[in-house]
Amino acid sequence: MAYPLPLSCSPRVNQVLDNQLTASTMATNLLAPVKTEQEILENSMLEDDPNANCAATSPPLESLGPRWGPQHKGAQELANLYSTGKRTQECICVGICLTLMAVNLIFILFHIKLQNLSAIMVAAFCGIVTADFGSGFVHWAADTWGSIELPVIGKNFLRPFREHHIDPTSITRHDFIETNGDNFMVTIPFLARMVWDFITLSEDDVQMKFTWNCYVFLLAIFVAMTNQIHKWSHTYFGLPSWVVFLQEMHVILPRRHHRIHHVAPHETYFCITTGWLNWPMEKLHFWTALEVLIEAVSGLKPRDDDLKWAKKGT
Ligand SMILES: [Zn+2]
Ligand SMILES: [Zn+2]
Repeated sequence: MAYPLPLSCSPRVNQVLDNQLTASTMATNLLAPVKTEQEILENSMLEDDPNANCAATSPPLESLGPRWGPQHKGAQELANLYSTGKRTQECICVGICLTLMAVNLIFILFHIKLQNLSAIMVAAFCGIVTADFGSGFVHWAADTWGSIELPVIGKNFLRPFREHHIDPTSITRHDFIETNGDNFMVTIPFLARMVWDFITLSEDDVQMKFTWNCYVFLLAIFVAMTNQIHKWSHTYFGLPSWVVFLQEMHVILPRRHHRIHHVAPHETYFCITTGWLNWPMEKLHFWTALEVLIEAVSGLKPRDDDLKWAKKGT
């Protein structure tokens, strides 16, 4: 006598169960926190708790020397590499950039046509998203590759990234010039080109390029403001209420959101302007895929230099 197969042994039912399992695993992966509270507590500096009353470190900090903060030997060495020449470059860049922004704003207000407002708003939004992507890309590249020993860019441009991981709150002690000098510098050629366009083009040509220029202007403003926004995301005391409001509305990088990047080994959530792209890029494994590719081609190991500096505290 033939017995019917148990339900779970039927190939069709198994297929359906497999599909359901895959769908539920995908949903679980998608909804899983990028870093758990435990990982945040164990592997990042408690910036909102300067006395580290609730640190879940094991073994205790005293036996290892500080892993983070101004007392970290690596952080002190990096802070001392900030030179007068670098400071001068930053002052000049901030001055030129602010002037160009003001001139462009006057030109934009002079030429704006309100009937094009919706296209201008879309362009502005795209400019902000591009700035967030750009902040992530530059931050990822500087955190992950290169070393302080590299000529010119090592001490001048990679140094702040290394310092920031081992002393995350040092940025809150930097003034406006040190915080923003490099980002302001990046925008100068684009803002200068815009001024040149406004001066030399005919009214028709200005109108043809107007939406594009609004995109570039918002992109430049958000690129320039990125490190200021980043500084605010590390400031747990005394922030103006309008900044806290923008953070809570997630218009700019929120503090709890940016803590995810600061969990060692600092391998995710690199976008620091609005942070809007962090979650989708993490779920797409964007940074990991790039690192695997670069490591396969070049043989370089991601975050080698960053790890070297982190170990200097112990
Ligand atoms: Zn970083
Ligand atoms: Zn940070």
